[in-house]
Amino acid sequence: MTRLLVATTNAGKQREFRRLLAHLPADVVTPEDIELALEVDEPYDTYTENATAKAGAFARASGLLTLADDSGIEVAALGWGPGVHSARWAAGGNNAVRLLEALGDAEDRRARMVCALALAIPGDPLSIEVFSGVVDGEVARAPRGDGGFGYDPIFQLPDGRTTAEMEQDEKDGISHRGRAVQAATPRLVELAASREP
Ligand code: IMP
Repeated sequence: MTRLLVATTNAGKQREFRRLLAHLPADVVTPEDIELALEVDEPYDTYTENATAKAGAFARASGLLTLADDSGIEVAALGWGPGVHSARWAAGGNNAVRLLEALGDAEDRRARMVCALALAIPGDPLSIEVFSGVVDGEVARAPRGDGGFGYDPIFQLPDGRTTAEMEQDEKDGISHRGRAVQAATPRLVELAASREP
């Protein structure tokens, strides 16, 4: 069966990708599974460039069909930041707490989660295709729920629940990453059927 490398060491993302890709006729592996220790910087100002750099580097190193995402939260009251800088934003602290502090009791709490998903296809030349997903919501006034990871306890949907309060399958159905994977699925199915291993 075709092996599909999910190029992330973030445990929360790995869990989601395994669920989101479980229906594919592919053997989903992580860098740890194939003992590939590779650090790839995310130096760019767009999700697409960062995801592309990561997927390309892991595909070259492994020779495997590879998926990598770059994601972030965009908040209206912060000029739609921290966006692509979401991971580095809290400088070692808790991102969600820092975001709540930055917003204080601002009335405008509109926010969205964004994901660019890069699919690297080894070959000569290696090619990369990018898919995206977005989910609109708002920043809650306090963290709620213990599911998910990262900003999930403070990212609230129109029905009032945070994505950390949803069942995993439910988050997968509406999340930025879930939507990006849905967009990529027809291509993944096609590639999984035509590639060995
Ligand atoms: P990166 O894509 O690994 O650069 O992550 C960007 C930031 O967004 C990190 O702080 C992640 O924890 C956070 N993040 C990414 N995806 C999600 C998600 O699905 N829920 C909550 N936070 C997320």
